Amino acid sequence: MQLTEKIHLLKLDFEITLSPEKKLQRFVNSIIIFGKKIMLIDTGAKTSAEEIIGYINSNGRDIRELDTIILSHSHPDHIGSAAKLKKLTGCKVLAHVAEKEWIENIQVQNAERPVPGFFNLVDTSVQVDSFLEHNQILKAEDNITLKIYHSPGHSNGSINIKFEEDGILFTADSIPLKNDIPNYDNYKDLLKSLELIRSQSGYNMMLTSWTPPLTEKQETDRILEEGEMYLKTVDQAVRTNYAGNESTALEFCRKTIVQLGLPPFLAVPVVDKAFRSHLK
Ligand SMILES: [Zn+2]
Repeated sequence: MQLTEKIHLLKLDFEITLSPEKKLQRFVNSIIIFGKKIMLIDTGAKTSAEEIIGYINSNGRDIRELDTIILSHSHPDHIGSAAKLKKLTGCKVLAHVAEKEWIENIQVQNAERPVPGFFNLVDTSVQVDSFLEHNQILKAEDNITLKIYHSPGHSNGSINIKFEEDGILFTADSIPLKNDIPNYDNYKDLLKSLELIRSQSGYNMMLTSWTPPLTEKQETDRILEEGEMYLKTVDQAVRTNYAGNESTALEFCRKTIVQLGLPPFLAVPVVDKAFRSHLK
């Protein structure tokens, strides 16, 4: 989907394998900037590379023009195709330093954050070439300036990106969607990051990893408010259920999932980890 003359949004479908019978259909957005060179923000899952290359071709360009990949964070559905694309093109990979280890060593990421079907989403680590910092300015093109915002919570080194001239704010996975999988590393940081996003001005389009472009202020206000309310509902449920001794693994997680009215198959370690971050 073309958003401006040079900025495109690409919706990449992928599948999370919960068990051999149970697969979850998801999608993630990536952003392509067709400048003198090509810049890519997030790379989808490992199955997304062909689609990205095809999209670039369908716009009369060539994947070898890819110069830079920015990773909003290290999760498998964002870094999945990065290694393959870097190998094909020799492009640079940029991310926040707090994501370095999980991008460069996916075995460590899987051990510390075991997303179901992890290796179906990403199978190769990739080296980060340079690190992005809060308030850093990056020139993607003469008239496309990117400003980086550190937005921890969903993960420690998550970033948001503002396209200054075009008035676009990309928040990646920073805004939790109501009744979606609770999957974040730090509840308190996430609340602070939502506050930071709320305080942003100078944009008229919000892009997230999980929604179509949002162009009405009413919509962006609503999604921010719902995200925050959802987190606070989760907080109460966690505080009720994570008490005393757990007799079986994931018992508290299961109870909390039930109380929140979420599907029982979401009682998995990665959700338990998000819940436990409320107690820190
Ligand atoms: Zn994520």
